[in-house]
Amino acid sequence: MIRRIINKVFGRKSRASGSGAQILPLAAHGIRRAQLDDCGLKTCETLAQAGFKGYVVGGAVRDLLLGKTPKDFDVATDATPEEVRRLFRRSRIIGRRFQIVHVMCGRVTIEVTTFRSNGQKETEDEDERPTDEHGRLLSDNVFGNMADDAARRDFTINALYYDPAREEVHDYFGGVADCKKRVLRMIGDPETRFREDPVRMLRAARFAAKLDFHIDPDTRKPVATLAPLLANIPRARIFDEALKLLMSGHALRGVHQLRAEGLHHGMLPLLDTILDDPTGERFINAALKTTDMRIAEDKPASPAFLFGTLLWPQVLQRWRALEAAGEKPQPALFLAMDEVLDAQRGQLAIPRRYDGMMKEIWALQPRFEQRGGQRPFRLLEHPRFRAAYDFLLLRAESGEVDAELGEWWTRFQEVGDDERAAMLLADNAPKPRRKRKRRKPGDASSGEAQPA
Ligand code: ATP
Ligand code: MG
Repeated sequence: MIRRIINKVFGRKSRASGSGAQILPLAAHGIRRAQLDDCGLKTCETLAQAGFKGYVVGGAVRDLLLGKTPKDFDVATDATPEEVRRLFRRSRIIGRRFQIVHVMCGRVTIEVTTFRSNGQKETEDEDERPTDEHGRLLSDNVFGNMADDAARRDFTINALYYDPAREEVHDYFGGVADCKKRVLRMIGDPETRFREDPVRMLRAARFAAKLDFHIDPDTRKPVATLAPLLANIPRARIFDEALKLLMSGHALRGVHQLRAEGLHHGMLPLLDTILDDPTGERFINAALKTTDMRIAEDKPASPAFLFGTLLWPQVLQRWRALEAAGEKPQPALFLAMDEVLDAQRGQLAIPRRYDGMMKEIWALQPRFEQRGGQRPFRLLEHPRFRAAYDFLLLRAESGEVDAELGEWWTRFQEVGDDERAAMLLADNAPKPRRKRKRRKPGDASSGEAQPA
């Protein structure tokens, strides 16, 4: 009887998975089946009906435990990818080496992953595991049981498996307790695990910022020495991680966390120079804060806008330098933009698809200075006006341009025609160069900043 009460409150040791997982009942974790997304629930049920295991795992369980709404649901199972695919009509196998299955219901996609092992059990000998000379794991595609699967995950709070049928959480490494203590703790030996996959260091910074968790000292210790290993990671993966951090809703804290851990060299190398300059720091902080606020309000936040802000201090610096060297303002700005975009490709590798929008936003900035004649009206009509105006406000907030300029544009949008006319300043812009040849109608060569 006493044993049953203890089990009910604190859970019991797993026998089914045979490996020391603590099985926690509803009373110990509080996650109800009804809190799951229908699609996630149905995926687990279908797997169970076919005789397989199906658990919600990873971020969703962690977020539910913390009272947050999960952004997506991952399911772990002992069915192979092919078996999963056959069970769900609307599903497809993704990836070649590390196969996962996307199960679609409506607009929701559930990622179903077969239990994997990180190879340790295969060889019993650490040295024979497939790693490179820095300890980076080269193969992570060996199927395993649920305990193996838990052990290959990164942090204790990410190795929680929720069984919707029984409303139980299988906790292998004390993740529920760590969640309550708000501690981010690596599973296993932190140094080995960071060497296996250095991106875990960036994930640590991201989760600490996003969840407002404290990084356990043993987990944190090796990071300072191992940070340079990020140089061996493909740029595209680093970029994905950067994007996740910046779009997490906690970009401000995340970026400062990165810098505190010395991890930004591998991710945003330009951060040092930006943050060492007070205007640059105010500008970036304002940009990150705005992004966080937009995400909190469920408004769209554009990565191109954000990357545009991260690169702006460099563009500005080059722009001024080129002007000081005698270049005219407009060509100087365009040259600076291209130079900065080329240079960052070797570092952060922002994909080219964002170039167009970043350049448009940057190129419109000088046009805000022109507040006479028809120019302000034409600028209002520009399809990128809104983004460029938001960008201008950040520049004003950081003190790079006069606050008055931002306020003028805010007001200019709000008032009616008469007041707009009264607001216009003397036309101070350089007059477009008159060409002898008559211009054809619709010819855009007006000498103003045209988006590239
Ligand atoms: P988010 O809310 O950001 O999606 P998440 O924890 O779900 O957080 P994902 O990147 O979606 O993060 O990964 C899902 C799960 O896969 C993680 O919870 C973790 O268990 C495991 N995982 C992901 N990346 C790694 C990694 N590099 N090393 C070990 N385990 C990982
Ligand atoms: Mg996830």
